[in-house]
Amino acid sequence: MQLIRSVKKMQNLSLKLKRKGKKIGFVPTMGFLHEGHLSLVERCRKDCDILVVSIFVNPTQFGPREDYKSYPRDLKRDIKLCKKYNVDIIFYPDVKDMYPEGFETYVELEKLPNHLCGLSRPGHFRGVATVVTKLFNIVQPDVAYFGEKDWQQLKIIEKLVRDLNFPIRIKSGKIIRERDGLAMSSRNKYLSEKERKEAICLYKSLLFAKELIEKGERDVSKIKRKMRELILKIAPKAKVDYIEIVDPETLESLSRIKERNLVALAVKIGVARLIDNMLIKVKLTKEI
Ligand code: AMP
Repeated sequence: MQLIRSVKKMQNLSLKLKRKGKKIGFVPTMGFLHEGHLSLVERCRKDCDILVVSIFVNPTQFGPREDYKSYPRDLKRDIKLCKKYNVDIIFYPDVKDMYPEGFETYVELEKLPNHLCGLSRPGHFRGVATVVTKLFNIVQPDVAYFGEKDWQQLKIIEKLVRDLNFPIRIKSGKIIRERDGLAMSSRNKYLSEKERKEAICLYKSLLFAKELIEKGERDVSKIKRKMRELILKIAPKAKVDYIEIVDPETLESLSRIKERNLVALAVKIGVARLIDNMLIKVKLTKEI
């Protein structure tokens, strides 16, 4: 396994590998790896000749009052895990190499960021779209893997690839959860023991929404209100950033349940802002 820090070296190596006909698979991450990341790594290993994992806590996707500085980092542990999972190359660039003095080109989508997390994190998806564009140009992957945990991000990357004609196939991976249902996230590290127990409220509220919808509830505001009540019952100090039911592709808010619904939420438990979502499909026969 190689650890590459230089942007130029990474790009040159990828171009060389591609000339040799190798299929490059890519899993971009911010490190502090967990089973969510590793599920994508495992899939990539099966599909591709060369498996590249990037570890880069991207400053441009954090707001000024967000957790860029405190974001959990543990390169040694990440290296061990990557070795265990047969990663070929870890790309671990320096911020100065990614964003040298005078950097001024950003990638921005017009509509998809105007929903869900994009509303409470202005500029976040501009940072994501910019860094992913750069990483794609550096790593030159044939296939890149993203988790459904960050559904809005996944939709934005799929759109970016289509709009800008990147010759890259995007594959998505299911949300990997802890035993009690909490979606795995590097940010779960911020939770105290008590908060960790309360954090289950996100998944519980998604299951509750699913149950309500399956029983025939079609009124989105009612479902959202009941989800909020459940969250505050489990975690009275939680701060609900948003609870939304949206079209899974356009991310536009729904007022009535449709055949395909994405229930998504962001909740702050202590200092940890946690997100989760569930795709709920229904046959629209039981309208009440
Ligand atoms: P991050 O390091 O949080 O930027 O995540 C890197 C990639 O792993 C993204 O594509 C995430 O969507 C994905 N990911 C993070 N957590 C999970 C999870 N619990 N299940 C599946 N994929 C995940």
